[in-house]
Amino acid sequence: MPFHATVLTLYPEMFPGPLGTSLAGRALERGDWRLDTVHIRAFGEGRHRAVDDTPAGGGAGMVLRADVLGRAIDHAVPSADGRPRLLMSPRGRPLTQARVRALASGEGALLVCGRFEGVDERVIEGRGLEEVSIGDYILSGGEIAALVLLDAVVRLLPGVMGNAQSGDTESFETGLLEHPHYTRPAEWEGRGIPSVLTSGDHGAVERWRRAEAERLTRERRPDLL
Ligand code: SAH
Repeated sequence: MPFHATVLTLYPEMFPGPLGTSLAGRALERGDWRLDTVHIRAFGEGRHRAVDDTPAGGGAGMVLRADVLGRAIDHAVPSADGRPRLLMSPRGRPLTQARVRALASGEGALLVCGRFEGVDERVIEGRGLEEVSIGDYILSGGEIAALVLLDAVVRLLPGVMGNAQSGDTESFETGLLEHPHYTRPAEWEGRGIPSVLTSGDHGAVERWRRAEAERLTRERRPDLL
């Protein structure tokens, strides 16, 4: 069974969006992964299909209702569905390449996209949602975060990336940032290519790349070392 993503959102028209093009889009067409959206609005309350309400205790903004979201989740995933249930949330554990790899090797995921001030805490507890953040900044909704997560996962799925090898030396995969890249022309605006890269000495190239990766990581992301 291919990787199966189910996205709960108030904006289903945002999917597959950019994931309908390029490698991910072709893989989606081939059936190498599957994407369903569930419109949260369809489970809203009353004639106006209300999905949000004012925060208990007062304050600004609106909160996605637990009953509405609970119904949407129960419709989307029967309780026997073992896929992880993720809530896109700036309060979540930051997404890492390791988590992306773990997700890519699983059956799929349910992704809940928040809006407004967020979702009623009780639905997070009651439906066992795991909060996942894509970084320390605030988006207006979880949809773009879900697209980011899915893009990172889908490119790892078997058959999706043309050059299977280019996966393993990528930044974070080795615990280091990746070394710099060069291609033709050999000279551009007076800038050459480091001569080791055109020397034909594969051992020397490997050593140079490793040293550059370590230098860049030390300079930019010492926290990774
Ligand atoms: N009031 C909340 C922010 C709500 S932003 C707070 O201060 O924590 C509205 C929705 O956008 C969230 O429910 C979440 O689904 C999504 N979102 C915003 N920033 C995000 C981030 N960095 N990572 C993942 N999802 C995010």
